[in-house]
Amino acid sequence: MPAVPAAASASLPAAAPRPALSGLVDQFGRVASDMRLSLTDKCNLRCHYCMPEDGLEWLKKSKLLTAAEIVRLVGLGVERLGVRELRLTGGEPLVRADLVDIIAALRRNHPSLPISLTTNGVGLAGKAQALAEAGLTRLNVSMDTLHHDAFLQLTRRPFLDQVLAGIEAADAAGLRPLKVNAVLMRGVNDGHAAGLLGWCLDRGYELRFIEQMPLDADHGWTRDGMITAAEIRGLLGGTFELAPDPRSREGAPAERFEVRHPGSPALLGTVGIIASVTEPFCADCRRTRITAEGKVMSCLFSRTEVDLLALLRAGTSPDDDDAVAARWQDAMWAKPKAHGMGHPGLGDADFVQPDRSMSAIGG
Ligand code: SAM
Ligand code: SF4
Repeated sequence: MPAVPAAASASLPAAAPRPALSGLVDQFGRVASDMRLSLTDKCNLRCHYCMPEDGLEWLKKSKLLTAAEIVRLVGLGVERLGVRELRLTGGEPLVRADLVDIIAALRRNHPSLPISLTTNGVGLAGKAQALAEAGLTRLNVSMDTLHHDAFLQLTRRPFLDQVLAGIEAADAAGLRPLKVNAVLMRGVNDGHAAGLLGWCLDRGYELRFIEQMPLDADHGWTRDGMITAAEIRGLLGGTFELAPDPRSREGAPAERFEVRHPGSPALLGTVGIIASVTEPFCADCRRTRITAEGKVMSCLFSRTEVDLLALLRAGTSPDDDDAVAARWQDAMWAKPKAHGMGHPGLGDADFVQPDRSMSAIGG
């Protein structure tokens, strides 16, 4: 894992001292209630926009949050800090052998907490039923294309059929509403956007396109290479009619659109577009992220990380819990106002790509 500099993004002001407020509040008045927790940095795919071909140097097991530490952290988040929903991610969370036990323990402690999982779907077919029985609420499965050759090109692995079987098993296990995440890459799968949407609509799945962010380990992202949200709307517009979804966005990263056949009043379903780069939603961000080794990242693009693991391992008394909660609050208090791309007054020149890839943060 590359060393991560401790300095915050240069263009952003230093945080004022944190007042004694409850919850995960930042200096700009945002309150984080959506916890994203990475279970591992390991993955069995090598998506171009995320991982290098040879993978990364994986964290040693001793550096990963244990199941007990995960349960304790989520407990602190929910019981003291106002966390209202949890998403488990990675790396690929399905590669973690104790995943079902972790979900079962979280469910026992938090019977009504929405717990979702983002997965690439490889190996999901054999685990979907157990995940549902353990208490998982729902799933996002990442699948960028239905074409085998493009899937292989994007992920560098020939596992599309496994992903399709995983989606089918998740649906059969009742893990709904099922969402499908897709990243488009120019010249690879951008021509498949409308076909993928049609496939999802036919099955009642909600497709969400994510603009490619500069979080690839190879640092190959370019603004011109990225397919923008406006382009995505155009790509879909040849086949479907999109109208803004009148329901409130409520801090969700995806802007939702109702989908119809041109000229038809019949609603086919909705599609989401997450325009993190060109239409950023930082002002309404409600997320707090914890990496697989227990570091708080207040933003995906943050270059500042705050370690909770050492404090978690220092002891389990109420005083130790107080210290962990306070450090988590400090980390969130210093959350930057914006990530530096696509905001008025903040151009690409103000943006410095984090050293961590998406897989090492937890998307
Ligand atoms: N391995 C799991 C998966 O792929 O679903 C979970 C982790 S992955 C980092 C979470 C999400 O981040 C996936 O939907 C993936 O497509 C997305 N992602 C990864 N790198 C990205 C990037 N550079 N820009 C936008 N989305 C990215
Ligand atoms: Fe693995 Fe997910 Fe990154 Fe693809 S996007 S390499 S599946 S962590």
